[in-house]
Amino acid sequence: MKYLPLLFDITDKPCLIVGGGKIATRRAQNIYNANARVDVISVTTTDQIAQIATESGGKVILRSWHSNDIKTYYRFVVAATNDERTNVKIAETCKQLGIPVNVISDSTLSDFSFPAVIDRDPLTITVSSGSASPILTKLLAQRIDALIPQGYGKLATLIRRYRHKIRENILSPGNRKLFWERVLTGNIAEHIFSGNQSRAEELLLKSLTDPENTTPKGEVYLVGAGPGDPDLLTFRAYRLLQQSEIVLYDRLVSEKILSQIGSDKKMVYVGKQRSNHSVPQGDINQLLVDYAVAGKRVARLKGGDPFIFGRGGEEIELLASRQIPFQVVPGITAASGCASYSGIPLTHRDHAQSVRFVTGQLQDGTVDLPWDQLVAPNQTVVIYMGLNGLPAISTNLIRYGMNSETPAAMIEQGTTLDQKVHISTIAKLPDMVASHCIRPPTLLIVGSVVSLHHSLNWFGNSSPSKK
Ligand code: SAH
Repeated sequence: MKYLPLLFDITDKPCLIVGGGKIATRRAQNIYNANARVDVISVTTTDQIAQIATESGGKVILRSWHSNDIKTYYRFVVAATNDERTNVKIAETCKQLGIPVNVISDSTLSDFSFPAVIDRDPLTITVSSGSASPILTKLLAQRIDALIPQGYGKLATLIRRYRHKIRENILSPGNRKLFWERVLTGNIAEHIFSGNQSRAEELLLKSLTDPENTTPKGEVYLVGAGPGDPDLLTFRAYRLLQQSEIVLYDRLVSEKILSQIGSDKKMVYVGKQRSNHSVPQGDINQLLVDYAVAGKRVARLKGGDPFIFGRGGEEIELLASRQIPFQVVPGITAASGCASYSGIPLTHRDHAQSVRFVTGQLQDGTVDLPWDQLVAPNQTVVIYMGLNGLPAISTNLIRYGMNSETPAAMIEQGTTLDQKVHISTIAKLPDMVASHCIRPPTLLIVGSVVSLHHSLNWFGNSSPSKK
């Protein structure tokens, strides 16, 4: 890291800007926002910078710059004239006097830079690319700005106001941490965000005397992680993962998603593999109960959507019967993710008015499905876990009346950078798949919508069937 980020208190301190154009004005505004006194020296100025200088208690000097204008009492100087050589001279003078300088035209001469600021006073978030790309910095700052509710500033102010009182009332640091976590992730924060400050304060004071608030309470979050691309995680999933202490995850949860979960959490792999049931379902259900009873917040992270072929229902049944609080966060199921990322709309007015999700898992070596219903016209059939049963699926669909030329797609590792889409007909797909080295997970989509892939495919550039 080349630069050390620091936050300086410059309230009422004098700072100098040499230059009076647009960039100088932006800098003056940043400095004024931090309550400093801004002096401006420039032959011409914008109306705005003149107003900022005056309101800040500083002065505007309408002439060109002299080296003896750089007084040692300035905390820092911004060289913002439109003449590069003048800026260099200003920088040299500052360096001789030991005053930090920022040169707008040359970051190599600058002692410090101005980051992009996301202002939720008293919370401040800053973003810098060390002058590598101001546009990237701005883009990132805009994203963060959109993510952080405006109310966070008010929340921070509330905490600051009550910190001492809480410290006096809740003596144990562990209990205090628990108390604040509960305030920040519960009702009180929600009242602040919705502008109901007085109700939030009332609840805060009331909860101080409630011992329940410092008793660890376990909770389980059954969270859908989506099909693989970490961008498909919902905001809610992300938030609950952050506030969990333990994460129980499956084989289907992608590495990329796991790497985004904070390293402070206990990660427990409970994945199941076809031939190797590493943790039996009953044990997983019990593990969730045990952690929650011990007062832990546990995230049960599952691939796709927890309620679609995910045994999510079974996992929360035991929690419900034991009255352990839980929340369920939907995820993007493989059918939606793979369909979108391979340009195959699951319904389309010209092709399919309904869609069915089925599992193609083998039971005693065969695939048991309501074949007569699956061959109905104008329908898309999405088959999860269908790789091993593919030959049987193909044979049965044709035997029950599906046209053998019906388009079919096998999507391998959908939504990830390794996604591959194999397109064929329901008759020929098994041979095509057998001739490739396929890596699970895979999803099968059958129906005339599959023909749209060639014109609607947008993600990635490798479609093996096109080669
Ligand atoms: N709950 C999950 C499904 C679990 S069943 C969901 O809603 O998506 C596991 C099956 O889902 C896999 O065998 C495969 O058929 C499918 N699947 C999950 N992720 C996938 C992916 N990224 N690409 C292709 N298929 C996927």
